[in-house]
Amino acid sequence: MRNVVILGGGPSGSAAALMLLDAQLSVTIMERASFPRYRPGETLHPGVEPLLAKLGVWERLHAAEYVRHAGVWSKWGGSTRFVPYGEDDTGPWRGYQAIRKNFDHWLLQAACDRGATLRVDTSSQALLDSSNNVDGVTTAQGPIPSAYVIDCSGGARVLARQLHIPLIRYSPRLIAQYGYVNGCFDQPVPSICADQDSWTWIAQIEPQRIQWTRVCEVSNRLHSSWIPDALRHLTPEPSRCADVTWRMAKAVAGPGYFLAGDAAAVLDPSSSHGVLRAIMSGMMAAHLIIRQLVYGDAPVVCAETYQNWFTSWFQHDVEAMSHAYREARLFGFQT
Ligand SMILES: Cc1cc2nc3c(=O)[nH]c(=O)nc-3n(C[C@H](O)[C@H](O)[C@H](O)COP(=O)(O)OP(=O)(O)OC[C@H]3O[C@@H](n4cnc5c(N)ncnc54)[C@H](O)[C@@H]3O)c2cc1C
Repeated sequence: MRNVVILGGGPSGSAAALMLLDAQLSVTIMERASFPRYRPGETLHPGVEPLLAKLGVWERLHAAEYVRHAGVWSKWGGSTRFVPYGEDDTGPWRGYQAIRKNFDHWLLQAACDRGATLRVDTSSQALLDSSNNVDGVTTAQGPIPSAYVIDCSGGARVLARQLHIPLIRYSPRLIAQYGYVNGCFDQPVPSICADQDSWTWIAQIEPQRIQWTRVCEVSNRLHSSWIPDALRHLTPEPSRCADVTWRMAKAVAGPGYFLAGDAAAVLDPSSSHGVLRAIMSGMMAAHLIIRQLVYGDAPVVCAETYQNWFTSWFQHDVEAMSHAYREARLFGFQT
């Protein structure tokens, strides 16, 4: 059986689909929402560029003409300084302020154009055999057997929940409050500014539209009408909240399944790496599925390789972020 089912058509799901299709595997994407649909997280690290090039969709990113930036203005303890992403012979590396509604949509569309079957379905559940191995999914129209299911359903964690895979927390409970304001803003952005309680992120995502995010401990939650002082003269849209407590699923791969993107792990958005991690983990899961289905690697080795790879970069990021928070004395991280 060379069919793979992907639960969720966000960046992790579309990236996995594009890799699998490239290896001539058949892909079904189950998606609960009809696209285009909204997601926060517009700032894309320049590292997405080589990944999208590998997936053969780099031109579409370039054609979208998103606002670009060469680094981040950071006030983290001392005075404000510009932290560039880096550079090579071709010049400075630049990130993108992607409009996620259309970024996620064209990525999913690219997977469909290459042959993925997209099913809009709100009720899919894993199909388990008597030993709890994942064998496919059930849908309102009947079962879809598959060699693997990749859970790319973000915070919904459809498969992970069904398999009762526990989440391990690595930070205090953190909430991101975020929103948009409309109008002209002339300060240097994107910027991240730490104060005694938290940090605030401000990014210009379109010529007249600014996105802001502030992360707080649950016990320090802000009023829903809060917006950063610097943006008070502009026209706000209602703010929203998301749980951004650092967490990772105890098992991110097992018999017949992989978890990728936010379904596998979440870190708060201070480093703007969520989409990069989602694409990277979707691609890695797909790569290991290809190793097994096309080249005959042992399933258990593929699952272990993914578990070790995922754990090692997640722990690396946890250490780097803990260090930054210790420096700024935030969220109870002690020196
Ligand atoms: C406030 C905030 C700011 C952020 N800022 C940034 C940033 O600046 N840069 C950055 O890179 N990242 C940022 N992120 C993180 C980023 O948004 C996520 O990491 C990224 O969207 C994860 O992609 P994904 O594909 O794993 O999941 P998602 O994008 O969440 O996609 C999951 C998909 O699964 C679908 N789904 C859910 N349940 C089901 C179901 N039962 N059946 C089928 N489909 C289902 C959903 O409809 C959705 O389309 C931010 C996050 C927050 C909360």
